[in-house]
Amino acid sequence: MKVDIQKLIRKNILNLEPYSSARDEFKGENGIFLDANENPFGELNRYPDPYQSKVKQKLSEINQISTENIFLGNGSDEVIDLAFRIFCEPKKDKVLTFSPTYGMYKVSANINDVELINLDLNDDFQINLETLKPYLKDENLKIIFICSPNNPTGNSIKNIKYILENFNGIVFIDEAYIDFSPEESFRNQIKNYPNLIVSQTFSKAWAMASVRVGTAYASEEIIKFYNKVKPPYNISQLNQDTILNTLSNEKINQVSENIKIIQKEKKNLIESLKKINLVKKTFPSDTNFILIEVENADSVYQKLVNKNVIIRNRNSVIKNCLRITIGSPEENEKLIQALQNINN
Ligand code: PMP
Repeated sequence: MKVDIQKLIRKNILNLEPYSSARDEFKGENGIFLDANENPFGELNRYPDPYQSKVKQKLSEINQISTENIFLGNGSDEVIDLAFRIFCEPKKDKVLTFSPTYGMYKVSANINDVELINLDLNDDFQINLETLKPYLKDENLKIIFICSPNNPTGNSIKNIKYILENFNGIVFIDEAYIDFSPEESFRNQIKNYPNLIVSQTFSKAWAMASVRVGTAYASEEIIKFYNKVKPPYNISQLNQDTILNTLSNEKINQVSENIKIIQKEKKNLIESLKKINLVKKTFPSDTNFILIEVENADSVYQKLVNKNVIIRNRNSVIKNCLRITIGSPEENEKLIQALQNINN
């Protein structure tokens, strides 16, 4: 399918003169730096590397992807929001999501005054291609967001290839939970699909939610536009250093070990949940959380809160469903005890 990225970009962004920072204008490392109105005193006095080159270099080596195909955002929430700003003309263009899904696509659409078409996933939480097909031809449909594995349902989405092959707008695959999934990432497909953006995050499997770093992998052309619109210093130096530190072999091994523990805990938790009567259904999960159905979600949620166990009430998006994040073995044990208690 022929894709013309330039045609997808908003006109004002295409013509935008980006901000030129002091570090854009002089890239050398040595000298007396009197060009950025920084304070000469203190240890955190300098602006950070605006393009996070050391982190990207490391990610490039680990993932075998060129640094030109990588963008770092202030969490993947920034990666999502910038996609709206790059591609969607307010009041004119549209995006499409499959619900239930992650809430920020809708919020970002509202902030950017972009219409959101929402198609329901089917009973297995999969995309209904027949319902989707007519929309694929809409010239004003700029982005299709696919969250896989999906939040809050936990399953991986099938038929993504079909959408990539039949839609010439942007296909944005949110892989926030991919490291918990047996499915392969679409990250390596960016060379085959110039309209593909794969977003990932350090917040989940990498256990660094407080650091606020998300990643976009996409064609060089798309990444150039991301760099054009992003705030000049969107990732602090402290955060760049923290991520770099975590990308050492030793720490990567620790992250892999912890993922295995979370997966084992998930399996045990599902077994325990199935034995509790008030749990009507546990949905399969490729993530670090489990969706369950109960008879009265609001009531179970409140009773758990009263016992100081906080889970996510998803009753407003999927009737009588609750979302449980996999915690430490001790935390999971407390959750099960609390549920057993409520059940009796
Ligand atoms: N995508 C999905 C599917 C999520 O569930 C979340 C956070 N819960 C995010 C993106 C945002 O993650 P962050 O901004 O921390 O990278």
